[in-house]
Amino acid sequence: MNGPGQETSRPVALVSGGSRGIGRAVALRLAEEGHDVSLCYRGDEQAAANLRKELNEIGVRVLARRVDVTDAAAVRDWVDATELELGPVAVAVTSAGITRDRPMLLMSDGDWHDVVDTNLDGVHHVCKAVLFPMMKRRAGSIVTVASVSGLQGNAGQTNYAASKAGIIALSRSLAKEVGRRGIRVNSVAPGLIDTDMSAVLDDRVRQQVTERTALGRAGLAAEVAEVVAFLASARASYVTGAVLPVDGGL
Ligand code: NDP
Repeated sequence: MNGPGQETSRPVALVSGGSRGIGRAVALRLAEEGHDVSLCYRGDEQAAANLRKELNEIGVRVLARRVDVTDAAAVRDWVDATELELGPVAVAVTSAGITRDRPMLLMSDGDWHDVVDTNLDGVHHVCKAVLFPMMKRRAGSIVTVASVSGLQGNAGQTNYAASKAGIIALSRSLAKEVGRRGIRVNSVAPGLIDTDMSAVLDDRVRQQVTERTALGRAGLAAEVAEVVAFLASARASYVTGAVLPVDGGL
């Protein structure tokens, strides 16, 4: 943890997968809205260091930690360290996610488990770790990053779509469990967004998706971050259990 302004008490936003792509855009957007930021990543130290530097330069305190979200104990340690070093977690956003796209007949059990463990178990671990302190304070806002694949299904993504449908069901159920404790839980379902994850798609698939998109283009990570920031904030104080597509009309 480092950065100026340690004497101030800004609300803290915790973002899994916050070093790149949508998570990175969310971290920047929430920082702009006045949050200090705790982010985790799996392996790309450089991306995390770059973002920490960028945030520190605008006076934001940052905890950037290498944490595999499939590891429940490591996630708990990360949340504990965040509360200790930065302060109470007001907002948690789960953006860590991976794809291993293949038709089911060609999909190894390993590909299935890697995706479900990261995308769904990872969200479970983060939500569970932040929930206890949020419940004690009777305040908090959680935003999970799902996908249109979890709403509509997508050929070649049985593992990914199942994990994302699971995230949506988890979020809606958790919203019902903790609403009376002052905690809101919402989800965004992005369509095709320009990040490293979607850069691996071949041009033909990309074109097919953009042709089916009302706005005729892929989205930007910042456009997803804007919706996440809204759901996370008090501006959405009567919104919980919602799943907002951010898909350009796919
Ligand atoms: P990126 O690949 O650009 O970034 C993924 C981020 O997640 C990185 O910070 C990565 O860390 C982190 N991460 C991956 N696995 C783990 C893990 N096991 N533990 C901790 N961190 C991990 O992806 P996007 O930004 O595109 O995707 C973000 C989320 O948005 C995902 O949940 C994805 O499913 C969802 N989404 C994306 C869409 C798109 O078109 N891009 C569409 C719909 C949903 P590191 O850099 O260290 O690997």
